[in-house]
Amino acid sequence: MSQQEHGTEDAHIAYRTLDGEEAHLPRSAIEELRGKVTGGVSTAGDPGWERARHVWNAMVEHSPAIVGHCLSAADVGNVIRFAREHEMLLSVRGGGHHIAGNAVAEGGAVIDLSGMRAVSVDPERRTVRVSGGALLSDVDHQTQAFGLATPLGINSTTGFGGLCLGGGFGWLTRKYGLTIDNLLSADVVTADGELNVASQTSEPDLFWGIRGGGGNFGVVTSFELAVHPVGPQVHAGLIVYPGAQASEILRAWREFIADAPEDLAVWALLRKAPPLPFLPPETHGTDAIVLLALYAGDPEEGARATEPLLKLGKPLGSMLGPQPYEAWQKTFDPMLAPGARNYWKTNEFIELEDPTIDAVVEGAKQIPGPFCEVFLASLGGAMNRVPTDATAYAGRDARIVMNVHGRWETPDDDATVRTWARRVFETTAPFATGGGYVNFITADEAGRIASAYGSNYERLQEVKRQFDPENLFRMNHNIPPAPPQARRPQAGRRAPGQPG
Ligand SMILES: Cc1cc2nc3c(=O)[nH]c(=O)nc-3n(C[C@H](O)[C@H](O)[C@H](O)COP(=O)(O)OP(=O)(O)OC[C@H]3O[C@@H](n4cnc5c(N)ncnc54)[C@H](O)[C@@H]3O)c2cc1C
Repeated sequence: MSQQEHGTEDAHIAYRTLDGEEAHLPRSAIEELRGKVTGGVSTAGDPGWERARHVWNAMVEHSPAIVGHCLSAADVGNVIRFAREHEMLLSVRGGGHHIAGNAVAEGGAVIDLSGMRAVSVDPERRTVRVSGGALLSDVDHQTQAFGLATPLGINSTTGFGGLCLGGGFGWLTRKYGLTIDNLLSADVVTADGELNVASQTSEPDLFWGIRGGGGNFGVVTSFELAVHPVGPQVHAGLIVYPGAQASEILRAWREFIADAPEDLAVWALLRKAPPLPFLPPETHGTDAIVLLALYAGDPEEGARATEPLLKLGKPLGSMLGPQPYEAWQKTFDPMLAPGARNYWKTNEFIELEDPTIDAVVEGAKQIPGPFCEVFLASLGGAMNRVPTDATAYAGRDARIVMNVHGRWETPDDDATVRTWARRVFETTAPFATGGGYVNFITADEAGRIASAYGSNYERLQEVKRQFDPENLFRMNHNIPPAPPQARRPQAGRRAPGQPG
């Protein structure tokens, strides 16, 4: 290669187009973009590059071409326009926790929102404003200062953006619904680079779509939500029973949660007993079933409401009592830290029938490692009362969400753990709704997206056509736009060229 050719190659950077082709960008174009993105633009080798390209799930190893570190809606608009101009594959990174790893586009451009974490509470109006890249811990920290909270997930390092756009459930969901059920409005930068306010009264179709439709319609730079009095002290904790009792405990848990107050959430977790200080050392690493409980109301009432859970069998140990809500929200962070290999399979159930329990218990007996688990989240309550077509989130009839969480350390175990997770999924599938929570669906399950959205899928495709007809936002659990419709003159309207 001549000096001149070499120089030309150096002055370009390779990238992946929306169609998956390889193309090249002049470095001068990236320099120009740098001047338009407040937090800067990084490329391979820049400081912080490894952190910028890695996500929570270590199975995902993507190398983008550029990362735009956005600090405002204007920055986001500029990266969107840049990606469109160069037909670059584009992804959006919130907290980087999605199991599928779509936050980082291989060879593409990344809109990195991780610098946008501001949260502000209006205690008078009982609302909170959450920036697009905030983590759950940011939201809890600010809202709890006023004794307020909104439903979030169980791992505080998760990104609020991805969680909320997919639906969002956690300990407060029985009482206050999904995260999206508390969403009042959102600032959305759409594929044309323009900022839209989406709410019940402004762009209502967009507002409908973003409540469950994920990142398909644009980049949300700010969310506004309702918050409710919670804590700061709550009654919460865990009760650990031997795995040998799992079948009876799950049946008793099923009866208990059917009549439990909506203040109380109790989830069941089947795994190897972790080395928790309140468990006898000889039980560490043995099969266990753990009941995790939070009472969202008065802690003394919570103590009374959870009392029966201690008597479902003979526990190995328990740690249940009053504690700060914010601390409880972080309880599981050490078990869910980034850097491990993860593969999930999820099913949803209206009722937990005996054969489902039998299949789950059988699956738990085959657990292939100390970090793998099957969890059953009991939802119900407020989230089930919202009609299926009121938001894009379709699983309103499901009262139990199962997630088979394969988690391990080395590639040598990839096949074993994935096979186990798939088996538990398959043996429970005959009793499931056929839907699925998009925030738990893995990269190899693109074929499940239409059924995950069920009767809402067609409208989602229409909204996609309206706001992203070229499918710029495709690095997600993608909803392709509905094909263009032949334009029909509407009643009362004149078609162009029609005499008046
Ligand atoms: C350990 C762990 C525990 C979890 N527990 C729960 C739980 O209890 N409840 C629950 O409901 N879910 C839970 N989840 C699932 C979680 O909701 C999803 O992984 C969610 O996508 C994470 O959001 P993120 O911003 O961190 O992810 P990212 O990977 O950054 O984003 C996921 C996708 O969301 C979109 N996106 C993110 N932010 C924005 C934005 N601001 N604007 C537009 N698009 C955006 C993008 O398309 C992106 O590809 C858990 C996940 C993990 C890893």
